Amino acid sequence: MLQRMEEERRHSREEFEDSYRTTPPWDIGRPQPPFLALADEGALEGRVLDSGCGTGEHALLAAMLGHEATGIDIAPAAIDAARRKAAERNLEVSLVVGDVLSLDALDERFDTVLDSGVFHVFDDVDRARYVDALRVAIPPGGRYLMACFSDLEPGEWGPRRVSRDEIVASFADGWHVESIDETELSTNLVPEVRAWLARISRT
Ligand code: SAH
Repeated sequence: MLQRMEEERRHSREEFEDSYRTTPPWDIGRPQPPFLALADEGALEGRVLDSGCGTGEHALLAAMLGHEATGIDIAPAAIDAARRKAAERNLEVSLVVGDVLSLDALDERFDTVLDSGVFHVFDDVDRARYVDALRVAIPPGGRYLMACFSDLEPGEWGPRRVSRDEIVASFADGWHVESIDETELSTNLVPEVRAWLARISRT
């Protein structure tokens, strides 16, 4: 079982690394609209982690707003690209290659964790592990702000669709689900996809 999970994880890491050989569909070169809206409403507070940061747009957004910002991603190619952008934009961001299912390895705590398009990559087993890892990384009062593909988005292509109920069920223990709103994520493929924006605080 453990060996199978390790195999799958290696497989998924290689797939993501491969996807960054060219520009992947989600890598739009600017922050996703729901995260710009969150920044506008002042929802980014304190130390910010961009979980599964890809090429780092949301960590860079946080840094631009003056936050101490960290981005973590399993794909070294994504982190390399994020570091290049940080240098180009003259922004200081801590960018690390790592597995968000073992966020405890970072041994850091964050007031705000941003997740753009990562929650929906995990199967049920890893989803639970991810929420466990977030519970450790976010102290009570901290917030997890997440956008994922919605079950309202038709078709089979792309990542797994997530329902509102699944989000609520995942964050039943140690969390307060403040809101789950309809939003849209931009891609390089189709104009916009239907998504959920969840604001969840640690209790
Ligand atoms: N947040 C970025 C990337 C979203 S795509 C953006 O909005 O553009 C999903 C990202 O999650 C990919 O960059 C992938 O490499 C990363 N990822 C997938 N599984 C991961 C894991 N276990 N740990 C860390 N990052 C992971």
